[in-house]
Amino acid sequence: MRIQWMKFPVTCPTCGQEFLSALRVAEVNAALRSSKPLELYASCHDQRWSAADHEVQQIRQYAHAVQFAARQLAPPIASLSDTTSFPSAIDP
Ligand SMILES: [Zn+2]
Repeated sequence: MRIQWMKFPVTCPTCGQEFLSALRVAEVNAALRSSKPLELYASCHDQRWSAADHEVQQIRQYAHAVQFAARQLAPPIASLSDTTSFPSAIDP
């Protein structure tokens, strides 16, 4: 199974530089469900920290958007053209 990654902007707590970070979607979902702290990482200062409330809110919104997009891309279970049509009017 392909591992899905979620990218989202984070701000380094040391220098304030904003950059894109990435976490596995499954990891983000598990953390959001269990309200465990999400670990963020800033490569510019090699620093790890737990996401603050406003960062968790932002990541939650991104997670919703990713799941919505995944549903839109998922193949339909059955094509509409496969449904058997109802019998049309029966001739007397
Ligand atoms: Zn930094």
